Order: sequence, then C-alpha cells, then structure tokens
Amino acid sequence: MNWSANQEACDSDNEMFQMSSSRMRDDGSHVRLLSVSEDEEQASVSPQDAGLPHLNFRQSQHSSTKFKEEKKSRAAALSILVVGVILIIIINIGLGIKLKNMHGYPDKSVSSSVQPSSTLKCPVKKESNSLRCNSSFPWQMYRLPSYIHPEFYSIFLHPNLTLGNYSGEVDIVVSVSQATDLIVIHSKELNISALKVYSGWHKRGDKIPAEYEVPQQREYQVCTELDFVAIQLSDRLQTQKQYTIHIEFIGSLTMSLNGFYLSKYKTKTGVNKTLATTQFEALSARKAFPCFDEPAMKANFSVNIVRDNTNSALSNMPVEITSDFGDDLKLVKFQTSVAMSTYLLAFIIVPDFDNITNEVQLRRGSTPVSVYSPKDKIKSAQFALEVASKVLIQYEKTFKISYPLPKLDLIAIPDFAAGAMENWGLVTYRETAILWDEKTSSISDKEWVAIVVAHELAHQWFGNLVTMEWWNDLWLNEGFASYVEFFGVNHIYPEWNLMETFHSLTTADAMTVDENENTHPISVPVNSAIQIEELFDDITYKKGACLISMMISYLGEDNFYAGITDYLSKFAYSNANNKDLTNAVVQHTSTANQRKNVLRMLESWTVEPGFPVLNVSLDGKTVIISQMRYMLELPASYTNANKCNNKSESLWQIPLSYMTDKSKDSAWEFIENRTYTFTLQDYPKWMILNANRRGYYLINYSIKMLESLILQLKTDHTAISALDRSGILFNVAKSAKAGLIGYDRLLDLMTYLEKEEEYGPLYSALLILSDFKKILKMQFHTNHHKKMKHFSKNLLSHIYSKYGWPTVASTQSTLTHPEIKLRRSAIKLMCAYDNENCTNQALIHFRKWMDNNTQLEVDYKDIVYSTGIRLGLPEDWKYMWNKYTKDLTLDASEKNKLLKALCHRTDEKTVEFLLDEAIKGENIRHQDADTVVHYLTYSGRVGSMMAWKFVRSKWEEITSIFLISSFTVQRMAENIFQTFTDESEIAGAEKFMEMHNLTGIRYFKRALEKAKFNVHWIETYQPQVFEWLDKNIADSEI
Ligand SMILES: [Zn+2]
Repeated sequence: MNWSANQEACDSDNEMFQMSSSRMRDDGSHVRLLSVSEDEEQASVSPQDAGLPHLNFRQSQHSSTKFKEEKKSRAAALSILVVGVILIIIINIGLGIKLKNMHGYPDKSVSSSVQPSSTLKCPVKKESNSLRCNSSFPWQMYRLPSYIHPEFYSIFLHPNLTLGNYSGEVDIVVSVSQATDLIVIHSKELNISALKVYSGWHKRGDKIPAEYEVPQQREYQVCTELDFVAIQLSDRLQTQKQYTIHIEFIGSLTMSLNGFYLSKYKTKTGVNKTLATTQFEALSARKAFPCFDEPAMKANFSVNIVRDNTNSALSNMPVEITSDFGDDLKLVKFQTSVAMSTYLLAFIIVPDFDNITNEVQLRRGSTPVSVYSPKDKIKSAQFALEVASKVLIQYEKTFKISYPLPKLDLIAIPDFAAGAMENWGLVTYRETAILWDEKTSSISDKEWVAIVVAHELAHQWFGNLVTMEWWNDLWLNEGFASYVEFFGVNHIYPEWNLMETFHSLTTADAMTVDENENTHPISVPVNSAIQIEELFDDITYKKGACLISMMISYLGEDNFYAGITDYLSKFAYSNANNKDLTNAVVQHTSTANQRKNVLRMLESWTVEPGFPVLNVSLDGKTVIISQMRYMLELPASYTNANKCNNKSESLWQIPLSYMTDKSKDSAWEFIENRTYTFTLQDYPKWMILNANRRGYYLINYSIKMLESLILQLKTDHTAISALDRSGILFNVAKSAKAGLIGYDRLLDLMTYLEKEEEYGPLYSALLILSDFKKILKMQFHTNHHKKMKHFSKNLLSHIYSKYGWPTVASTQSTLTHPEIKLRRSAIKLMCAYDNENCTNQALIHFRKWMDNNTQLEVDYKDIVYSTGIRLGLPEDWKYMWNKYTKDLTLDASEKNKLLKALCHRTDEKTVEFLLDEAIKGENIRHQDADTVVHYLTYSGRVGSMMAWKFVRSKWEEITSIFLISSFTVQRMAENIFQTFTDESEIAGAEKFMEMHNLTGIRYFKRALEKAKFNVHWIETYQPQVFEWLDKNIADSEI
C-alpha cells in the first residue's frame, strides 16, 4: 500500500515552505514491447510449480428458480437483520474508539527472528493489552488458532448500491493440523444469519446430506473487541480431512473508505454515480466477509458477485462466466485466484468506467494490462498505462520471476483513503495517483503517478507473491516496494535523476521519525489492531528502503538481486520472515567475510531502533571513528525518570564508504565496534564519509574536517559531487540539531549555496530552511525573522534571476526535468518569503486566471493559486471555492491544488468553514480532510490554533468517521502537534491525550515528543541562530 495520500508526501519541492518534514515526491505513446531471454524464463515460477493446491473446482450450476428463492429468503433476512447490523455497527464504533490494546499473543515469527549482536537495553515496550474478549469467550489470544488452515473460499456477494447494503455467503474449505472442536474466525460488523460446518469439500449451492453436518455444542459466540466468531463443535475435526464452513451474512455499504464500501462522483455533465469497492489492508477483509484474516493464512478465492446489467464488475482474476440473475441483474463468476492473503483480495462494481489496455509481452506471454477510470477521465490514464507496462517488464528482468496472473488492472477510485493499494491483479489508486494530463498536471504530479504505479507493481512480487508471515515484518513488503519504486522509474526515465532524490529524500524522511525516542525498530512485535495499523509509517517504508539500498550498495546489484530471485522463488505463494531474506541474500556474497558482515548488518539494523552517528576526526592519515545512537534529546524536565535511554548502548554493524580529494573512487570499511580507526594512503585535504549517501547513518565531522570541506565548497564546490554536497549539508544540519556542533557552522556552510546550481544540494538547503521557518513563524515580523527571510532568499536569488517566471510555453520546454524543479523551488521560496517581484508576478497571473480564465503554466499554477489567495481579497477566495465545488470539468490534481490554495486564507471564519466542510464530507471528500488540516496548520498561527481547537472539540465525531488508527487521524495529530512551540500547548496536548486515552499510541507519543523538542530548540539553539544572523546581516539590509 502506498500510505501517502497526497503527492506532497513525495513532492520534492511542493510544500517545503509549509511543512516541517516535507517529503519529496511525455508522452503517452504506446509502449515498446520487449521480450525476455530464455535463460530468464527458466527461473519463472508458475502457481503449479510453487505448490498451488490442485483443488477440485466444480462448477456451480444453479437454476434461476433456486436463485429467486434464495433472493426471497435473503430479502426476508435482510429486513429482520438490518436493525441488528446497525446495532452491531454502533457497538463497534463505540468500542473502536476506546483505543485500548489487545491481549498479547506469543508471535512465532518474532521469536524466530534473529537477535541483535548487541544487547538491547531498551526492548520495545509491550503496551498493556486491555482490549480482550469476555472471559466466557473460548479463545483469549489475539492471533487466530494456528492449527486451522483455510484452503479455499467460495464467496457470493449481492450488493445493493442504492440501499447501501449487501447479502453474502462464504464457503471456506479448511483442514486442521491437530484435532480440535473449536473454530475461531474473523468477522467485523457483519450480521451472520446462518453458520454451519460440514465435513468434506463443498461449495455454495451443493446439496449436502444431513449426515455431513458437524453438530455445534451451542450457537456461535461473538467477540466484537477482537472481531472474532467462535464455533464450538460437538465433534472434533480430524487431521487429514477437509471441512467446509458455510456462513450467510449481511453487511453495510457505506462511505467508510475501508472494507467493502461506496464511492460517489459526478460525471462532467453532472450525473451522480456510485461505485462499490474494497480496501482490505490491513484488517478490513473481515468487514466484507467472515474469513481467516491473517497474512499467513493464504488460500485460493472464487469470487461470485451480482451486479446491475449496466454496471461492470472487476476482481483479482479475469471473469470466468457471466450469467443472468433475473431482474436485470447479472451474476459474475471470476476465475479462481492463486493462493494469496485475504488483505489482497479485491472486488469492485463500477458504473460508466472505461479502460485502455496494452498487451504487454511478459515472460509468460502476452498479458493485458489495463487502466480503468470514470469514462470522461480515461484520456488521463495513458501515462499510468505506459509506466505500468514498462515497469512490469523491468521488474521481470530484474527479479527473474514472472508476473503470475493472466491480467493486471489498475483502477482510479474517487474516494480512497491511502495513495494506492496493491490488490493482486486489481490495483486501486486515488485519482491523483494514477491520472495525469499534461495540459493540466505538473511534473510533480507526473513523478507522483510514476512512483505510485511502480510502488504497487513492485508489491505484485514483494507482498503478493511472497508475503510477510506476520505484520511485524511489514517492511519486507513496504521497504522493498519503497526502494524498487525509485529503481523502476529510474530505469524508465533516467533523465529524472530520481535515484539521487531517493538517496537524499528517503533518508531524510526516515530519520525525521527515527531520531526520536518514540521510534520503533524496522521489525517489531505487534499484537493489536492499532499497533498493526501504526506500522504503516516512514520507518517501515523509508527506513526499510534505506536498508535495502545500503545492502545493494555494499553487496553490488548483481549479488543482491540474485539473492532476491532465490528468496522470491523459494517463498512464492507462501510467507517469509526477516531471517529468510537474510539467508537468501548471504548465499550470494563474494567472500566469507562479506557473508558474515551482511548477516550481522541485517541483524543489527532490523531490530535496533534508531540509527547511528559516526563522530569522525582525522589525525594525519589516520581516521578515528566512534559510533553512538543519534537522538534528539530533551531536557530532564521533559523526560521520565525511569526513561530508558540506550543511546550509548546500541551498536550497529556499519558498511562505511569514503572518498578524499586524493581518491575520488569510494572505498569501503566495515565498522563492527564502538570505535574504529583506519589509515589512508595519502594525506587528504578533505574527506567525505558515507560517500554517495548510500548508508543509513550520519557523519559528525570534526571541526577541522568540516572547515576543510567548507573551504573546498566555497572555493570550488564542483570538486565534490552534487549528491555529496547535499550529504554534507544534511549531516551538518543534523549535527547542529542534536547539539554536536554549533549552528554558526551550519549557517556558514550554507553561504556557499549562493553559487550552487544543482537541484539536490539546494533541495537539502530548502529542507533545512523549512525547519527554521516552522519554528521562527512564531516570531513573525521580528527582526530575526526578517533576517532569516533575507538569508533564505539570498541562497536562491541567483536561481530566481537565472530562470525567473516562465513567460511562454517554449521557455519551459527547453529546460530539463531537474531544471524545472529547480526553477519551481526558487519561485516558490521567493513568493513564500514575499519577494516583491515574485508576488507581483504571481498576482498578475492570478488576476488573469480569475478575470479571463487564462490557462496557467502547469508547473507553477499552485504557487499562483496560493499566493493569490494569501495576498488577495475575500472575493478571490469565494471565486476559488465556487470553482472547487462546482466546476465538474476539473480533474483531481487540479482540485487538489485549489484545495491547498484555499487553506492559505487564514481568517478565523474561513478556517472554521473549511474544517467544518472537511468533516461533512460533501464538498470536500473525507479522503481530503487531513489535507485541509495539514495546510491550515502550516499556513500560520491562526490556522494551526483553529485546527487544534477543532480537533479537540470534534474528536468524537472525527474518530467515528475515521478509525483512530487511520492515516487521516494519524496525519492530523502529527501535523497539529508539530506546530506547537510553547509549554502551554504541550500541557494542552498532554491533557488531551490523557482525557482520550491516547497516551499509549505511538504516533501521538512521537508527535508530542517533537512538540517538546520544538520548545527545547527555541530555548537552546535559537539564540545561536540569532547571534549568527546579527553578526552577518545588518539591520539595514532587511
Ligand atoms: Zn506499499
């Protein structure tokens, strides 16, 4: 899954002046079809080769009479049970916001993972698990019984999109590995009307003789706290036999953005349309149908779904047969899936969607790859289709494993909580993550579409073919996908220089989370719903990706991917853990020493929280290094007396690359201990460690080493590569932030940027400036704030002078992709810091757009919109709001830009109006609620205070609409807390957390920690910055 809902999460330049941890982020011609060589073909794994069970899938042949009878009885059941469903939902919502953790369960996959070579003095705390089933419930674990194995699901669903409900039946064939009289299965918010267990393999509609039924001791029991249904049988199920669990149920279709849910949109001519779609990861398959909802419980799925004549239905597999179901309805039966996890299942019913298709020549033959979207948006699907087709071929070549399904569909969903979801063979996307139109969308939009498409397709191997055994190793899915997305796009569009972006940005994003006490190891025990949902964060995704990148760099691409091919082959259609990956990779190391190093490296980096900083000094030719954990420390008044601090006790196995002015080819050392020395061949003038930024660690240079680097950068910065220049800036900023060096050194270093013309180093500088701006915004209009603005503008004024605003389309076309990003960054900074020339230009463009509907340059229109709203009149805001809500011709990326701009007007009335609209979910979709909070909090003091007031007063309402563990609530909390800069705000946040029982939730703890660090920074480090500004910028200059 791509958990970043918006492209600002991956936009290298979009909102750096709005966000503290702003993250990064042709044509539509037909794809050149490539073939693969025969030797690659031999490594292909087919479902049969990999042990897919050969089940006897008998065809279901129902008479129409029988279906009508079934429909009548379902209708009766519906009317009786609908009240029950509502009650269950109400109960579940009530319980869901209690936010208590669940009863623990010994996790086999965790106990089998490798222990670190160092002693962890600060083990991950297990929260108290207060959410548990009533003591009379016969199963008290969080995990399902491991001895029941689902093999095959036959699912029948009859949704009514108008009434917002559906009836369903599921037949689950199971076997057991130990005799038992207890079955426990997941079911959430479903009203079960019938539940029987039969011996033997049966499917829906079979006439099963009475003697096949396994009698139950009592009616099934429900535990809503842990989404369980328990079936206590009179007889014991025996090993070596198959059994079928038959369940009939009724579910609701709402706009909940998870489970089986509704999405609504209007066509460009104003016709209302409704579709039904699914989002199951992590724990919502159980909301759609009763199932064994754990990733290791893989099975084959046969999906049967009823639809209106005029609609279409899609699922993971192609349609096997469509038959009449009476009353203008059709029954669609899909081909049986390969063995897969429940969270990857998907089924969608769409009204007037269209699709475009490429026949892509893959290893297993010609495979249709299609993109679906609402009919009037299909032209914007061409770019995603091109990326999908090319990247599939690239992945097959790299992994040497075939894409195993007979088709691949990608589909745009108007209401979608995350960015995208990798359902096997049917990938769902938010519209902004898949639709791109060169006439209306920017290159940032384009990068985002390419990245998200590539991310989800990487999952077809990492996650879908080989799945983590349990959620604790989610990084095996997401870390890989987050690395491979860049790797894949870089192969298709090398001119975008995206790997450099990866090395700068992904590391920075991951460390922003990982530098806090409330971080977590990549591989971490999880035993509750909230703990599982919380894992979808920058540690799992981006730190995981950085670890992959570091391994590739140390081992070499060929060795690494040879190990990956083994890993994917060995665990295809099955599950794997950390250790399995390690074992596969070390088989392809070059030497025994390298093998030992890789083993120890993977062990230490996946189970240690945080990351190291290497303190480095140079004595002649001798390099002296010591390692310690990098952590932003808080003063004692903020910390718990019993706080565990393992800063000095953590130990990492570090592959260290370096280069000097005498030797530009990077060399390697491997650091195993706390201290390490090695000797260079020559006396260097300067030296760079973690050369090429491949390692996930920081370098704290001695003052002498740093001075020599600064001297070189000021004399001739081109002697050092752009990537390493951005690395020096990043490292020095981190050293200053942790108090390892003074801010005067950082600010002095940054002055070299007045000559810098490469995007990478300037982007690193912009991230540093955004950190300053976030905190200094509290002192608006003070001299120091003005001086910081002056300093910031100076760093990019040469870029602004060189490129300026685009005047005609032709000027844009002569620029390279990185140059467009550079120009954009300069314009954005100049306007954000009120450079008069810049804001005047923006306002001229804005006025032309308002008055004459003049088309704006796509890459700069968001700057024009936000500047126009920020400096314009209330009427301008109203005009834009009308455009946002009424203009049906706007595509999703354009609406996104308008919504962000609307958040730049920060009078109380407007802010309140926007927040209300975000919760109503009519004019602003619920999926965009956190975008509103995000942009308001960074638009200024009023926006952040109002957003905080709003969240406090509407907390119950917010958490009844969005799950507490949802991305939306997580992002709201993080965005608001990060703007806190004084003690009273901290106290208010702590009180709020206590009142709502949120003190055990990691993302809240982390957000609070960051807020506390803001206060500490202002007290401790801000004076250093002010002193430097006073020394170097005269009052007369501002
Ligand atoms: Zn993902």
